[in-house]
Amino acid sequence: MKQGWDSILTKIEQDNSNSFIGGKPCIPKNEFLPICKICGEPLTFFFQVAFPQGHMWEGKSLAFFYCTCTCHKHDDIQKFPPSIHTGTKNDLFHIPDGEIDPEIYQTLFRVIFFDTVDGVLREDYKEKVKYQKIDWKSSKKKNKKAPIIIAGEAIWSKEFGMERPISYEGKDMELVLQVADYFNFEKLDDASPEMEETYKKNNPFIPRKENNYTFFFEFNRVYLWGTVEKEHPSFWLNVQCF
Ligand SMILES: [Zn+2]
Ligand SMILES: [Zn+2]
Repeated sequence: MKQGWDSILTKIEQDNSNSFIGGKPCIPKNEFLPICKICGEPLTFFFQVAFPQGHMWEGKSLAFFYCTCTCHKHDDIQKFPPSIHTGTKNDLFHIPDGEIDPEIYQTLFRVIFFDTVDGVLREDYKEKVKYQKIDWKSSKKKNKKAPIIIAGEAIWSKEFGMERPISYEGKDMELVLQVADYFNFEKLDDASPEMEETYKKNNPFIPRKENNYTFFFEFNRVYLWGTVEKEHPSFWLNVQCF
């Protein structure tokens, strides 16, 4: 088993932790707050992680934004990032050159990768997800319930099997993190709800009853992969349903 780190979440007021879910992002001051390239809505900040001691990206952080209007403002092919590899039962494939250029690939999500020391609390972002601080527990076991796992090994669904990218533009790729299937992100009361489909013609979408946001739909486990580079890695994402 490869070394991984499982998240331990604690509900507190936003503090100065550099790994956390929700609240306001702590990213470089020159980064624009990202907008969805599909529907034009501001992306919702979901979480950020500072890579732990012993990880190849120690000293770096990654912030993740995603469109919480995906269900009602995107058509079916716009609900996931564009990629020829998803759902094809591919394993150990090379991602074609140019395919994951963030400007064309990161349509409904955005990854911001930066030196942890450059992060500043972004008061210009209105928080939507309830804050939880993350501590990391070193692990060599597959803990399917851990909300976020850094590195380690992918936990695949039996139905789909392994779908691992090996390289992109000549650079090796490795698993950056996983977000657990059925892990939802608690929503703040004043934030707009995620909509869900009713399949009724006159009233196709209603607010989701649960006071939370799903992440690429709740049944999906999310895998984020990155090129093994200290600066400006490229990212690719896939999901499997459970
Ligand atoms: Zn959108
Ligand atoms: Zn290929």
